Amino acid sequence: MSDRNELSTLLDDAFTTFDRVIKEHHYEPTVHESGIVKFAGRGVVLVDGLPGVKSEEMLIFPGNIYGMVFNLDPEEVGVVMLSKSDDLKAGSTVTRTGKVMDVPVGEALLGRVVDPTARPLDSGGQVNTLERKPIEREAPAIMDREPVTVPLQTGLKVVDALVPIGRGQRELILGDRQTGKTAIALDTIINQKDKNVVCVYCAIGQRSSSVAKLIEDLHRHEAMEYTIVVSTSGEDPPGMKFIAPYSATSMAEYFMEKGRDVLIVYDDLTNHAIAYRELSLLLRRPPGREAFPGDVFYIHSRLLERSTHLRKELGGGSLTALPIVATEAQNVAAYIPTNIISITDGQIYLSPDLFQKGVLPAVDVGKSVSRVGGKTQLPVYRSVAGNLRLSYSQFEELEKFARFSTRLDEQTRKTLERGRRVREVLKQDQYNPFTVSEQIAVLLSVTEGVFDDLPVEKIEEAELAIRSAITKQLSSVSEKIHTGNKLCDEDKKAIVEAARAVIPEEKS
Ligand code: ATP
Ligand code: MG
Repeated sequence: MSDRNELSTLLDDAFTTFDRVIKEHHYEPTVHESGIVKFAGRGVVLVDGLPGVKSEEMLIFPGNIYGMVFNLDPEEVGVVMLSKSDDLKAGSTVTRTGKVMDVPVGEALLGRVVDPTARPLDSGGQVNTLERKPIEREAPAIMDREPVTVPLQTGLKVVDALVPIGRGQRELILGDRQTGKTAIALDTIINQKDKNVVCVYCAIGQRSSSVAKLIEDLHRHEAMEYTIVVSTSGEDPPGMKFIAPYSATSMAEYFMEKGRDVLIVYDDLTNHAIAYRELSLLLRRPPGREAFPGDVFYIHSRLLERSTHLRKELGGGSLTALPIVATEAQNVAAYIPTNIISITDGQIYLSPDLFQKGVLPAVDVGKSVSRVGGKTQLPVYRSVAGNLRLSYSQFEELEKFARFSTRLDEQTRKTLERGRRVREVLKQDQYNPFTVSEQIAVLLSVTEGVFDDLPVEKIEEAELAIRSAITKQLSSVSEKIHTGNKLCDEDKKAIVEAARAVIPEEKS
């Protein structure tokens, strides 16, 4: 018995001394710790040991594969794998790196196609840059931000006139599968040529073939030189899909902090939420609505909060975000769409019905809104946007009823005819951006009734003629528009007259 007491006193003493030594020497856990893989699943791993590991720290596994710390539980560490980890077995050793997940950033990324860790996916070789930034960064503070004042032209008439986007804004592109969501984002990137805007396109869990086609389109329209493509496909580990938008944002922020204007497209956040749900379920985080973990709202809000317009003292750069969300059966009230609608400054809603009717881009004007872009819109749009919206919404309402009645009064017939022409004018092919003056000339023509006597089928031809007329014959008015001036009545008259002079002869 006494032996036992002695032993316990000895042990007590030893522990007290150990404690004191630790305190005196400010013992910090070193990064030389290693742990043991307890369980290796699809894309996730549970690790035993590593008492000092930090959240989002990078860990190295045998075969030089990396994982990122995701869950810090008292008994184990949940790790998200960033490459294929099928060969990983329980019992393997894991080592800490002591560094939180970061990515290379810099000018060298422009024109490149990379994965979320900036490994090249094109034939350009290693990305040549030394600077790195963590993928998760705090969003700029309120005091470091400035109101959004400069428009970001998409080159699409329907967007620029009716749902204008400002530099530093977050505008959601929302719609069912195959309704032209990516096409709007792609056209916007193509329209940034010679506008001094850096673009980042982040593909999250897309089909590799569609990303390849998009890259080809970017090359074909000489847009790749100012664009970075960060790509993950459907087959990539969910961890890669999860980190993709964060690392793409860090790459974009590099340019914003240098005072540049940057546009980032997240295609799409539905896939991102699904990857996050997969990881969370595998790591047994409690599921909530639609089996998404409770903090799925937070992962998107902290991502989109990083888009802003910085104040002048910080360089005045901006980051405009176009997140894309896919809906199912037009259900915008599902969990992920409602979440993201509430953390963006507006949405462009694409309707499958319009798409089927061939009204492309299939923007449903009534359900689309831009809450801050209106203030940034060039003043010339004011002379057309109000009339346009009014005649279009009147037309949409009448169109449903007009189908059932054969006899229409003169006024209704006129409204319908005008509306049909407005819809025709708002149609636009892919890869065919309009400059501001071209947009104004065409939109003014329809609101001033230039097309009223023209058959609807002839409008496309008329548009072409008007586009070349405004650039060739009215270069001074065109110049005025581009420098942000309002149009006086004479200018408007000149545009309308020039339009009347060039439209095809044939009357309906
Ligand atoms: P997914 O849900 O599969 O990602 P999506 O909503 O991104 O689809 P897109 O891939 O952009 O849709 O477009 C679907 C198809 O419609 C494509 O073949 C595209 O070329 C065509 N399309 C989209 N917009 C237009 C347009 N304005 N003019 C002509 N074709 C278009
Ligand atoms: Mg798409």
